[in-house]
Formats: sequence, C-alpha cells, structure tokens
Amino acid sequence: MTQQKWVQQAVSSIEADFNRSADTHLIPVALPAYPGIQLYLKDESSHPTGSLKHRLARSLFLYALCNGWLNEHSTVIEASSGSTAVSEAYFARLIGLPFIAVIPKSTSVEKIAAIEFYGGHCHLVDKSHEIYGESERLARELGGHYMDQFTYAERATDWRSNNNIAESIFNQMRQEKHPIPAWVVCSCGTGGTTATIGRYIRYRGYETRVCVADPENSVFYDAYTSGDSTLSHEQGSRIEGIGRPRVEKSFIPSVIDCMVKVPDVASLAALRYLHGSLGRRSGGSTGTNFIAALHLARQMHEAGQSGSIVTILCDSGERYMQTYYDDAWLTSRQLDIAPALAALTACADHGDDMPWDLAEGVRSTKVFTHN
Ligand SMILES: *Cc1c(COP(=O)(O)O)cnc(C)c1O
Repeated sequence: MTQQKWVQQAVSSIEADFNRSADTHLIPVALPAYPGIQLYLKDESSHPTGSLKHRLARSLFLYALCNGWLNEHSTVIEASSGSTAVSEAYFARLIGLPFIAVIPKSTSVEKIAAIEFYGGHCHLVDKSHEIYGESERLARELGGHYMDQFTYAERATDWRSNNNIAESIFNQMRQEKHPIPAWVVCSCGTGGTTATIGRYIRYRGYETRVCVADPENSVFYDAYTSGDSTLSHEQGSRIEGIGRPRVEKSFIPSVIDCMVKVPDVASLAALRYLHGSLGRRSGGSTGTNFIAALHLARQMHEAGQSGSIVTILCDSGERYMQTYYDDAWLTSRQLDIAPALAALTACADHGDDMPWDLAEGVRSTKVFTHN
C-alpha cells in the first residue's frame, strides 16, 4: 500500500469512529445552600475510552497523520499519567499500529489494565518527571513516533468548531436558566482542554470566565502567579490526570482568568460528596474541579449574584477503586477524609464556611514565555 493510501484509510477509520460516537451529557448538580447558582458537570466519562482524553487522542492521531508523522510501520509512543494512554491505545489499535505507554509506576492498576486491554504495552518509570525523557529515548531507539501530548494538545485540537468540548457545552446550555455560564472551571494536565475552552469563549465573544483548579505537587499555580515557566517539581501529583512537575507547553496562562490551589484531601472528600449527590463515582480531578466550583458559587452567592457554573467530570471513579475509594490507601497517605467530607457537606448543603482557605491567584503581568 502506498503511504498516501494508508494515511487516507487511517484518517477514514478515525472519522468513521467519530461518526458512530454520541455527544457526552451535561449533568446538573444541586447545591442546596446556593439556590441562585446552577452547577453543571460535563460528563466526559461516557466516551468509549472513559475520559476527556478520548477527544485529545483522536485529535493527536489526526494531527500526526495529516502532518505525515505516521506510516504503517510506526510504533506510537506516549508519555502519560494514564488516561491519554488508554485512549491512544484505542486509536492505535483502530488504525493497526503498535503502542507503548510510558507511565509512572503509581498509575492505577485499572488504567494499566485498560491500556493493555486495547493492545497497548506499558513501560513503567519510577518518577512522574521521567516519562518525557524515557519516551524520547524509546522513540529514538525504536524509530517510533513520540506523540507528545504535553506539547501538542493545545494545537492539535479544533478550538473553533467540530463539536469540541467548549462548543458542545455552550450548545447544551442553551435552554438553561442562565445559558451563558459565569464560570467554566477546569483543571490542567496538558492544559489542552483549558486552551480550547478559553479560546472558544473569546472567539464567540462570551463573558464567561475560566478558572483553573490546581492540585498539590503541581507547578501550574506558581507559574501562573509568578510568570516563571521554568519551575519544576520532583514529586508527582496525587490527583491522576492533573497537576504537572513542569510547565507544559500546552498550558496557556493568558486564557485563564484565575487559578485556585485545591488541597488533595478536599478533592478526595469531594468524590465522596459527589457520589452521594449524583449516585455515581468520579475520578480525582472531578473532585478538584468541584471544590473550585463550590468556592466560586459561594463567592457569587455572597456578592448577591445568580448564574451558572460549568465544570468537567473528567473520568469515572471505577478507575480508582484501589486508590481514592480505598480507605486503607487514604490512611497510608495520611489523607483523613472523614472530617473533610463532613465539613464539605455542611458547606455545600447548609452554607457553612468552606473548610479550606483556598489560595486564589491572578496571573502575573510578566510575559509568560516557554523556553
Ligand atoms: C488529562 C486529564 C485532565 C486535564 O485535561 P487537559 O486537557 O489535559 O488539561 C483532567 N482529568 C483527567 C482524569 C485527565 O486525564
């Protein structure tokens, strides 16, 4: 088969898969203590590969194919905290290419099983920050293609149209009480979702603001408030999918209106709260998003405002049964979520004070340049 023919077939397979897929739901979440504020979760767990990374993986494969970066003999390699690798393994299999995921050894066993289920191979490294160099090395030695989501997420995604996550959210909000959200709350892994949403808001001229929630052991918040893009951190984030040890190239601070630093214990207590309120489990980053959304809901309430807030249910909790939903796992990490959950419930349901004094940061005026 000629290279041209192979690329045509690979692109058609991915487009046909898109055509078979349905949109994800927008779910209202009650905040009993704040009746003037409507909160919604964009449920990205319902994609075929279970997370918002399904959108990203599709875009990255199309981008690589249309750039001429892949051929029928390519091995695809990716540095990931797990979710992207699950989705990329799915698309690699769809177009018949071998796939190697370079992931930290702390990645949940459920995600490793999902990568292998789609025919991917897992290459484990000790520390989160080692995934980049190891992916480059493997690509060099095997003559493979390093997909590099952290660089390409923001540019591979169609931010103006194609029912991207932002366009889908704004369409689904059309018949709501406050159709134009006051806030969209995201959290950053690559930063790609935030870039798409932030750009779309400007493109359409909406007044919606973007708030990014950052977990512990991540440099994004400090980079945002200081303007220093060279920051790095040894330890990996405990909230899988978000928080990075370096400032990723796809992180675009100029589309973000404010950032909030969320303690991990708050994120994990939020999962239990949401389980009670929605009747379903979500992953850690959804908890981080929820805490920031609740923080904003309280601010709006105190200022006498009403309006809507949209955030993202990034993936399902079924992937974290042996970590975030396992009390022994939490205890061994000194994460005491019982008091946190009680205080959070009092805050969301009865309007008590937020149990955590969240650091809220505005963007440094220093010009942010990636080196
Ligand atoms: C990647 C990821 C995010 C963040 O999305 P980005 O677009 O990469 O910033 C949030 N939650 C989970 C579970 C993820 O895998």
